[in-house]
Amino acid sequence: MILNAFNLEGKVAMVTGCNTGLGQGMALGLAQAGCDIIGVNRSVASETAQKVTATGRRFISITADLADSHSLDTVMAQALDASPQLDILVNNAGIIRRADALEFSERDWDDVMNVNSKTLFFLSQAVARQFVQQGQGGKIINIASMLSYQGGIRVPSYTASKSAVMGLTRLMANEWAQYGINVNAIAPGYMATNNTEQLRDDEERNQQILERIPAGRWGSGEDMMGPVVFLASAASDYINGFTLAVDGGWLAR
Ligand code: NAP
Repeated sequence: MILNAFNLEGKVAMVTGCNTGLGQGMALGLAQAGCDIIGVNRSVASETAQKVTATGRRFISITADLADSHSLDTVMAQALDASPQLDILVNNAGIIRRADALEFSERDWDDVMNVNSKTLFFLSQAVARQFVQQGQGGKIINIASMLSYQGGIRVPSYTASKSAVMGLTRLMANEWAQYGINVNAIAPGYMATNNTEQLRDDEERNQQILERIPAGRWGSGEDMMGPVVFLASAASDYINGFTLAVDGGWLAR
């Protein structure tokens, strides 16, 4: 029956940056659907660990700074030590830096590109190698943005990095579909998390943004649960290289 295709019982999902925000919402959604979670965070994600274990699933905590792609060998070794089987990767960790393009620094360029694009690619590569070795396919879900489609303002490296996420999602999907690996992305709209605190604190920008969202509200981690479970499950086996907007209609305007 079709609802069985959404069941993730017994699967193991690695989720980066899941101590808060959208990553926490997705880790919890995947756990509710049946996954054990390997959380990769800069610090121990205690709140997420507690919420995941309350669903009856395991939470394996790995600490790593994803700004440095050299940390990935250790991340993979620790993950495979805790669980010899990996089924799902959610590349969620991401940062943003805001400054006028005329003033934007090389440091703000490199920091954002390293976490949002470079690590996303090399962690996907490491996990895809594991999927190929396991021989049973797998699911990779990248977190893109409205700025994968639009230019934005005062966030040059974020726009570059998230545009790269959409392109890389297609490239990886093209190369790895032959191994039964689905690579897709979710592009969140305007979501109430740490990432958008500055925007929400600015009453004028907050109002402008809300007026443009047909759903009339900021999104949340809960809004990511259904889409991530769908893209992590057999229900989406014939979806490859697509970026799904979860945006309350922002792009439809
Ligand atoms: P958030 O609350 O700031 O969460 C970002 C997560 O990434 C945190 O867990 C953060 O850890 C982690 N992270 C950042 N740098 C890291 C590093 N060097 N090593 C390890 N972990 C690192 O923001 P969010 O809104 O939930 O963002 C999640 C994803 O959604 C990001 O990729 C973001 O670009 C994307 N997104 C968000 C929105 C939105 O409106 N909120 C819209 C479109 C896309 P710490 O807590 O330790 O910093």
